[in-house]
Amino acid sequence: MQQALAIPALLPPPPRHPVVGAQKDIRYYGTTATGVLNSPDSTGMPFWSINPYIGCAFGCTYCYARYAHRFAVVRSADGDAAAAGDLEELPPWLAFERRIFVKRNAAQVLRRTLQGKHKSSGAVQRAEPIVLGTATDPYQPAERHFRVTRELLEVLAEARRLRLVIITKSPLITRDLPVLARIAQRSRLTIHLSLITLDRELARRVEPRAPTPEARLRALRRLAAAGLDVGVNIMPVLPGITDRPDALAALVRAVADAGASHVNACALRLRTTSRRRYLPWLDLEFPELTARYQRAYGQGHQITDRYREGLRQFLKAACRKAGIRYGSPEERAFEGRGGAGHGSAGHAGEEPADRRAGQAWDSPPPLPSSPRVLPIVAEGGGTYTIPAPPVPPIARDPQIALGL
Ligand code: SF4
Repeated sequence: MQQALAIPALLPPPPRHPVVGAQKDIRYYGTTATGVLNSPDSTGMPFWSINPYIGCAFGCTYCYARYAHRFAVVRSADGDAAAAGDLEELPPWLAFERRIFVKRNAAQVLRRTLQGKHKSSGAVQRAEPIVLGTATDPYQPAERHFRVTRELLEVLAEARRLRLVIITKSPLITRDLPVLARIAQRSRLTIHLSLITLDRELARRVEPRAPTPEARLRALRRLAAAGLDVGVNIMPVLPGITDRPDALAALVRAVADAGASHVNACALRLRTTSRRRYLPWLDLEFPELTARYQRAYGQGHQITDRYREGLRQFLKAACRKAGIRYGSPEERAFEGRGGAGHGSAGHAGEEPADRRAGQAWDSPPPLPSSPRVLPIVAEGGGTYTIPAPPVPPIARDPQIALGL
């Protein structure tokens, strides 16, 4: 008599997004990417981009890549009840930091893309800029274990005449010095380290899980000493928080001393998804600034032209004094088209125009006449008229467990 066969249909299907790791309150899911080189058309950014992960454990309060997670997750978890259920546990802005998707096959997909006839391989041959890390930090803690970025770099090192930019906050990038050096021999490579303040305690409040400013400066020194082109993104400058002229000038001097070739900068932009994270945080940590932000961002996602121009002039002068360039060639090329900043100007591109932006603040209350809340603009191209607010003690949000 023939033996009965097992009936596979009765077994539950394997999860499409298996949990591949956990780290305290962060859960990592494996995902299979179908494409990794995102075209300018698909992102609205003036360059090609690659993101090895979806989500970012560094959890910067101002990060507006959060909106990208929402879309990526809906697409990625589609049909995977387990992953979708896990994601629903958290509000989208928090899922961005705690539910991270690992594109485990990214390097194979990239290799196939570069070898294929797809339009992206043509773009690479034409040396159009590619930015690694626009909607996630490619060297966030997951990278230590999963090494997706490292594998991608190995593929990119096989190509020639690329224009590659890597954006990160993490000193983990120095692990990959040998492969970065190989890329720099065959292609134009620029590394953008993101650093918005030298103040360790302030950095911890604004970017709760990102590496300390000292660690980033050490990484900068090592990368520059290895002969790589490294710039620093002061992005975003947070009005009233990180824009003290003496602090910005000291930051420019410190990065110049550490070997940065240039500085890029831009002021905070606040679209809907980042408002949801940033403004409650501001209320908690800097309540005395709430009215000023209502005024500054009440009608749109950008602070005034006057502030932005004042900031630009100030930093240009600070860079001149420190003997480094203001603006990388890439940044100049992107200027006015979204920028290439990490976490602000072009991180994940512009959030699609959002007609709701500003609605909650439609009628900002008139500002009190106290000098503390008057201008947060640079006067005459560099002199700020108010001191930064006093830094209150850290108020911890019980929802946000700090420190890995
Ligand atoms: S700004 Fe960059 S490092 Fe910070 S959470 Fe967003 S993606 Fe991560």
